[in-house]
Amino acid sequence: MSLKERTAVDDLLAARERYVARGVSTPRLVVVRAEGAQVEAADGTVFLDFAGGIACQNTGHGFAPVVAAIHEQVDRFLHQCFMVGTYEPYVEVCRRLAEHSPCTGEHQKSILVNSGAEAVENAVKIARAATGRPALVVFENGFHGRTLLTMAMTSKVRPYKAGFGPFPGEVYRAAAPYPYRSIDTDAAVASLEHLFRSEVEAEAVACMVLETVQGEGGFIPMPPDFLARLRELCDRHGIVFVADEVQSGVGRTGPMWAIEHSAVAPDLVVSGKSLGGGLPLAAVTGRAEVMDGPGPGGLGGTFGGNPVACAAAAVVLDTVAEPGFRARADELGRSLRERLDQLAARRRAVGEVRGLGPMLALELEEQSPELAQRVTAEAFDRGLLLLSCGLYGNVLRLLPPLTVSDDELERGLTLLEESLAAAG
Ligand code: PLP
Repeated sequence: MSLKERTAVDDLLAARERYVARGVSTPRLVVVRAEGAQVEAADGTVFLDFAGGIACQNTGHGFAPVVAAIHEQVDRFLHQCFMVGTYEPYVEVCRRLAEHSPCTGEHQKSILVNSGAEAVENAVKIARAATGRPALVVFENGFHGRTLLTMAMTSKVRPYKAGFGPFPGEVYRAAAPYPYRSIDTDAAVASLEHLFRSEVEAEAVACMVLETVQGEGGFIPMPPDFLARLRELCDRHGIVFVADEVQSGVGRTGPMWAIEHSAVAPDLVVSGKSLGGGLPLAAVTGRAEVMDGPGPGGLGGTFGGNPVACAAAAVVLDTVAEPGFRARADELGRSLRERLDQLAARRRAVGEVRGLGPMLALELEEQSPELAQRVTAEAFDRGLLLLSCGLYGNVLRLLPPLTVSDDELERGLTLLEESLAAAG
């Protein structure tokens, strides 16, 4: 990097420090370009991206068909507001979400919004309007966003909740299965039944909101028997079952939705992140009778379902639905798990390899964030973008684009193992 370029980067970082609120934290990376599974930094370093902007690049950076659809829409119009005028890209995304919906019922509808948190909030509004009930049940290790309601639903104090209360009421939390930490399906269901005895009657609960694979909580897949027992409890008590698939959906685990690995159908599914192919878009999809709970004007937002984001999302959904894409994701999941199992056998620091399909992570034995932080820093120094997660910050999660090449995957795993060794 020339002196002039270095000065430009330093100036940008200084301006960032000067003008951007410190609550938005970022690592040392200054991005100038990204393509496929690669991110180019301002100093010319090309990083292998196992972070995907936190799970937003299932189809890879700058996926050509998505970029082409964006260009085409940009030339037509950028914004209309769906509450002012109907436009085709919004309806086409809802049509595709209906066609690929994992939810109960024949007739599926959707609403499109800007972020995962906004979508979760809308799912709660919809469930409350449809049932006429106030309460919601969420689960330990869950993450649902950073708005006030979704913060209340999230199960990690620092950095997400500390100092931001008071939180909205009527949010009740039960245990979720976490076999590695000795919480199985029976224990989790018992916790829920206890909740119905001790805190809130089941008949006051509008919805249960559960991540099919807990993402920020540590890539913990919910066991199929737990999903089935939740479904049965929801049916018994008239509760809306909401699957939060903001992180696990849109092909991340192989099929369009992680819940398709089980035989369970939720009533509503919440999507986001990779849905917009890099543009902000999120959705709530589900059975028409539930989705139509709120009356006209009760849902919406100025930018929700922006036409450019919708043009991208229609292509993303078509791509992920292709059998070839699924086959590649499944293959990726198998080879990644095999390699991670081998790595775990060599490295005592690794407690468990965990996940679903190609949505995989390593939980480190040490229940504190220090080692994982050292590993992600070592990875960064070697040119690998890697994120940690988990209640204790001790889980290394792998989120390469599902379009990653075998060579890139191999290189990333080698860098990961080197980073683990160097972090000690
Ligand atoms: N739900 C889940 C499962 C998530 O992983 C996230 C974000 O990480 C959200 C909701 C919130 O999404 P957003 O950051 O787009 O508001």
